[in-house]
Parts: sequence; C-alpha cells; structure tokens
Amino acid sequence: MIDLTKSKAAFEEAKKYMPGGVNSPVRSYPHMGCPPPFIQEAHGSHITDIDGNTYIDYVGSWGPMVLGHAHPAVIKAIQKAAERSTSYGAPTVMETEIAELIHQVYPSIEKMRMVNSGTEATMSALRAARGYTGRDKILKFEGCYHGHGDSLLVKAGSGAATFGSPDSAGVTKGTAKDTLVVPYNDIPAFTKMMDEKGDEIAAVIVEPVAGNMCCVPPVEGFLEALRKETEKHGTVLIFDEVMCGFRTTFHGAQARYHIHPDMTCLGKIIGGGLPAAAYGGRREIMNCIAPDGSVYQAGTLSGNPLAVTAGIETLKQMMAIPDFDKILEKKTKDLLTGWKQAADKAGVPLVCHQSGSMFGIFFSEKDVLNYHDACSANAAQFKAWFLSMLNQHIYLAPSPFETLFMSYAHSDEDIEKTIQAADKAMEEAAKV
Ligand code: PMP
Repeated sequence: MIDLTKSKAAFEEAKKYMPGGVNSPVRSYPHMGCPPPFIQEAHGSHITDIDGNTYIDYVGSWGPMVLGHAHPAVIKAIQKAAERSTSYGAPTVMETEIAELIHQVYPSIEKMRMVNSGTEATMSALRAARGYTGRDKILKFEGCYHGHGDSLLVKAGSGAATFGSPDSAGVTKGTAKDTLVVPYNDIPAFTKMMDEKGDEIAAVIVEPVAGNMCCVPPVEGFLEALRKETEKHGTVLIFDEVMCGFRTTFHGAQARYHIHPDMTCLGKIIGGGLPAAAYGGRREIMNCIAPDGSVYQAGTLSGNPLAVTAGIETLKQMMAIPDFDKILEKKTKDLLTGWKQAADKAGVPLVCHQSGSMFGIFFSEKDVLNYHDACSANAAQFKAWFLSMLNQHIYLAPSPFETLFMSYAHSDEDIEKTIQAADKAMEEAAKV
C-alpha cells in the first residue's frame, strides 16, 4: 500500500472548509475507499503528492495537459506574460492571434468569444442559439456532460453521474422542461424527437465523442443524422469539443467525422492548463452576441493574458511537431493493447475505447454505446483495478465515468510500466 498519511490529514482539514474537501466533486475520490492524493507538483508525465509518492499521470488535469506538466516553453511564456501584469480587462493583440489560430484549425469557427471555463462556453453558446433562433428548447444526450449550467444538468454525465445525481437538485422545473434528452448514439430516438419537436428546438448540443460516461465514440451515421435533422429544422448544431477538441484529431471530432457544426465549444487545451475556453461558429450566429447583437455575455477575466499566452504556446508546440495527434493516438493504442492483453490473461471481460488521445475502459462483456450501457459496467471491478493501479503508482481518474488522457510527455517506458501494473490490477479485478 502506498503511504497517504499526509494526504489523509490534509483531506480531513479541507473537509472542514470545503464541501467534500474539494473544489470539484470527483477530486474527492468518491466510493474509492482511499483519500485523494493531495498534489505537490507535476512534471512531464509524472505527478507527485504531498506524501512524496510519484505516479504516472493519465488524468492530465482532466485533459488540458496534452504536452505534459510544466512544459518549459509554456511555463516560460506564462512567466514573461505575468511580468507585464496578470490582467488588463482590455483588448490585446494576442486575443486576435488565438482567434485566428483557432479559426485556422477549426474553419467552422468563423468568429469566437473567449470565456473562462467549458461551462461558460456551453452556457453562452446555448444562449446565442436561443437568441438567434428565437426558440426556447434545447436537446442534449443522456450521459453527455457540458459543464454545470442549469439547463445542462439534466441527465448529465461526469461527476453528476458518479454521484448519482445526473439531474441536479437546485435546477428549477421551468428550466429543466426546456431541456429535451435522447440516448446517445440512438438515431431513431433522435429523429423521432426532431420530427415531433424540431421546430421548437433552438440547439442540439452534443459531445461528438462522448467523454463523460467514460469514452464513447459516435456510431456510424449518428453525427450525420444530427447534421441532417438540425439543418432540416433550422436548429443550431453545437459540437461541445471542450474535451475531444485537439485530441480526437488536432482539428477535432468535426474533422475526423467530416461534419461541420454551426457552433463549437472549446476549452481545456486552449488554456494550456490555465482557465480559458471559447465558443464560436458561424458568423451570422456570433453576430448576435453583444455588443454587435442583443445576446448578452461578458467576463472580467475573459481573454486573460496569462491564459491566452499559455493556450497559444500550447497550440504552437503541438503544431511544431509533425503528426502530433497521430503520435499520441499510437501511444494510446499501445497502452490499450497491453491493458486488453492483461485483462484477457486474467479472464476479465474488458471493452477498450479510444478516440485519438482520449481513452477509457469498461468492465463489461458487451460493447458500450450509451449511458445505460456505461452504467451496466462492473463498478466493483473498476474499484479493485483503480486501487491496484494507484498502489502501483499509476494515477487514473477515480470514477468509471471519466475518460483518461495521453500526453506527449508519456514515454515508451511509462507505457510499458503502466502495462506491467495492469497485469496485477486485472488479477485484482478478477478476484471481485
Ligand atoms: N464540456 C465538456 C465536454 C467537458 O468535458 C467539460 C468538463 N470536463 C465541460 C464542458 C465543462 O468544462 P469546465 O469544467 O471547464 O467548466
């Protein structure tokens, strides 16, 4: 067993002052039977806790750390920017630079607005879609998570699923009634809902690769059906690529699946580990945003110079390495191949999913296509696996509903070590 004495004490102290002792629920290690390691520092592919345990990190701050932690060029750029002040609340040239850069990588984003979190990006995109169409209803998919905006905390994934509250208390009935929900990957159910209500729906919002019920890629034809039906009904199609952006491919899921959404939400990687996100899309929709239009949305720290600097530097570093996304995809594939072999050896049924450098596993005999399937996976086996991996210094997300992330900093040696650890962890899972 690893020693978590200091983390345990820190957690007890934190619980006195913060709900669950944390600033985001899944960090509290729900149902995992051990305190969360409190983190001291992280470099490259490794993260170290206050007890001095160092782990190979596949959480990567839940996605942003695609270059690995404390990347020297990113840190240097942030330091230089900080010397010029941490915030101006006024326009800077670098905001146009990042918007141009994002437009190059995501041509469907003709205009964009920066915000501070993925939550703000999706909330604001929905408001824009409602303002643009003059309609109230939105449609989301069960098990997708789009941040904690009221209208999106309906049948939500991620921590909301982990804690058994996909429909959050505190969301009014009035708000929830405007959110229609359909199972992910269910083309007939979606088409039926659009036939019945399409003309009242302002926006369909989707994670084109779902990453908040673990990793669930779209089935063939699903995203095409979304595009076709939304076009038919004049509904805005929003791809929430906060997680899968720059990971499924560098150009996002929209490039992998050749679907052009009307709007896109980005986050995580575009802040290089600092709080930044963005929403954007077709010019005529974005022209509805204040001050050009009457949809109000603003932010004291939006376009913050440190976050924008970190984002630009992260994107430039990624762009400087030919086939960056393919390299990460290959590393991820190697890792999952090893995990699957470990599971087979131990006689544990395992489903492995990957989309570029996002990945996840389900302790399940049958494939996982939606939230219902994800919930049917074996939670006890997941817990045994998770604890064994942690004890072998492999840092994974402490919930079966979360995706894992590969970074450029993960070496072949890291991957080999992680596969070796999986041999033992799968044996532990087999005992459950
Ligand atoms: N959309 C998606 C797809 C996400 O995965 C997340 C967070 N994991 C969000 C939105 C919300 O982002 P944030 O936590 O930055 O508010």
